[in-house]
Amino acid sequence: MADNECLFCKIVVGDVPADIVYEDDEVLAFRDINPQAPIHVLVIPKQHLDSLASVADENRNLMGHIMLTAKEIARDEGLSHSGYRTVINVGADGGQTVNHLHLHLLGGRALRWPPG
Ligand code: AMP
Ligand code: ZN
Repeated sequence: MADNECLFCKIVVGDVPADIVYEDDEVLAFRDINPQAPIHVLVIPKQHLDSLASVADENRNLMGHIMLTAKEIARDEGLSHSGYRTVINVGADGGQTVNHLHLHLLGGRALRWPPG
């Protein structure tokens, strides 16, 4: 269900432009507008879900689809050998700023741990 006020829903329907790297019936992947690594792609469900905290049992296949999409994009971006990171920020303490579930795929440099 699209949310009229949601930035990422607007990207899904094409009302806001994005640098799309992958799309199918269920998911969309596009480059982050403020990249934190040489490769920084966001993988989102096309349906509006606020966050991981909103995900239900019925979304089990969708969540697997998002993870596998990230893996395939990482491979296509040449990151399989060097490695990469996937991150889902949840809520205020998690640093979530856009309330449409998204998985960050980050790579192309050595990433530090722990995160800030
Ligand atoms: P988070 O802080 O986990 O909610 O991540 C939201 C991400 O969305 C941030 O990394 C932003 O840079 C990114 N972002 C915000 N607006 C856009 C946009 N119009 N196109 C692409 N990425 C965006
Ligand atoms: Zn949305």
